[in-house]
Amino acid sequence: MKILIVEDTRAVAAVMAARLSALGHETSLAENGRVAVDRFREDPPDLVLMDIEMPVMNGFEATNRIRAHEATQSWAWTPIIFLTASDTAENLVTAIEAGGDDFMSKAVPEAVLQAKMKAMARIADIRQRLAVANRKLEEQANRDGLTGLANRRYMDLMVDLRWADAQRRKAPFALLMLDVDNFKKYNDRHGHQCGDDCLRAIAGAIAATVETSNAEGVTGDAFAARYGGEEFCVVLPQASAPAYEFVAAALVDAVRRLGIDHPDNAEWGVATVSVGGARAVVADGDLAPLFLTADERLYAAKHDGRNRARID
Ligand SMILES: [Mg+2]
Repeated sequence: MKILIVEDTRAVAAVMAARLSALGHETSLAENGRVAVDRFREDPPDLVLMDIEMPVMNGFEATNRIRAHEATQSWAWTPIIFLTASDTAENLVTAIEAGGDDFMSKAVPEAVLQAKMKAMARIADIRQRLAVANRKLEEQANRDGLTGLANRRYMDLMVDLRWADAQRRKAPFALLMLDVDNFKKYNDRHGHQCGDDCLRAIAGAIAATVETSNAEGVTGDAFAARYGGEEFCVVLPQASAPAYEFVAAALVDAVRRLGIDHPDNAEWGVATVSVGGARAVVADGDLAPLFLTADERLYAAKHDGRNRARID
């Protein structure tokens, strides 16, 4: 375990650190409550051993602040054991009331120290596994199962956040709606299994285009999502007019260059997308009209013969 020892008396801290190291734990020291809170925020430990009487900030106050900080984080609770001069019932009650989980005498017998650390290591292990499971769940909840792109739910969430951010900064904001051309005919000819493969490949080309555009600094934090069915959306916060035009054209090119056989797609012979875009020079008011405009232009692109972008 990573154990943070908070103790102002150096000799006591050194002895405790040595004993815990001997049990195979990794320790770090903080000489008062304030340092402990900072250290905790920078590098959360698996366990805190907290002295009570300390200069600058005492153990109860530090525990309070650590609990307040934890409330804003995804992990729930790090065990805190108070280090006390004596084992009394009164000490235990005070420790629990103050947000601690247990208390331990600074002169704790070796067998008790080992037993307590064993129990704490079990808790740390469970917490770690929970954290991993939570991250996976969160990730899955945001991803579209078929294509691996962000899903509609996540896009709705992100697009509102980015729009609000653009409004605050009075920054531009653009979005592109993409629709796979004649996709129903593709499914009718090749079957839904191939249809899924086709969508996956197109999603891959969209994602790669957006990533490259971000990496090369054309866009900053553009992201792509599966909007539904064979529709995709690319959100371009703060996109300049040239960046917006560039990405729209690059998306059309990238999909066509995949060369996915699609004989029923008019004269193109391969799978293509149509793109409709809308851009606000300054983000202002409601976001809905931007989606509406992008949709209208998407239909115009279809009407004009597909495999093209209509963005103004
Ligand atoms: Mg002290």
